Amino acid sequence: MFISISLSRRQKAKKILQKLNFNFTNRSTIIDLITHLEKTTDKKIKILFAKLPLTTHGGWFSIITDDGYIVEHIFINDMLSPLQQIHTILHELSHIIRGDKTWCGTLNELFMEKERLIKLMLYRRLNGSNEQELDAEAMALVIHDSMTK
Ligand SMILES: [Zn+2]
Repeated sequence: MFISISLSRRQKAKKILQKLNFNFTNRSTIIDLITHLEKTTDKKIKILFAKLPLTTHGGWFSIITDDGYIVEHIFINDMLSPLQQIHTILHELSHIIRGDKTWCGTLNELFMEKERLIKLMLYRRLNGSNEQELDAEAMALVIHDSMTK
């Protein structure tokens, strides 16, 4: 699926990324970025590879732990190619960086609602016209550019 991303959306993403004070270079890794986000915000971020339908690339949910903390869980379809996995991680991280909202609940609740949430992930992906999705996609592309040149 090809989504064209406007220049203004990329510029908006760049502005938000500059405020992170993270040094995006071709030497920085996704792990560096996650570590920086965890240090500079009160967020904890976990990346998990999961068996998902092929049509679902990934998803992000805020999970409430037993001790009452929120850990951002990014689920990545383990059948994707490495490049698709990286792109999907950047897309989901962009949602977190932008302060978007997602489903929030315990891990048990997540598993109980699994079917519905997988449909939600698919819906979001296929409805790329959603402003939030286009902005996350623009940010993922800007991060990708700034970490590869
Ligand atoms: Zn998204």
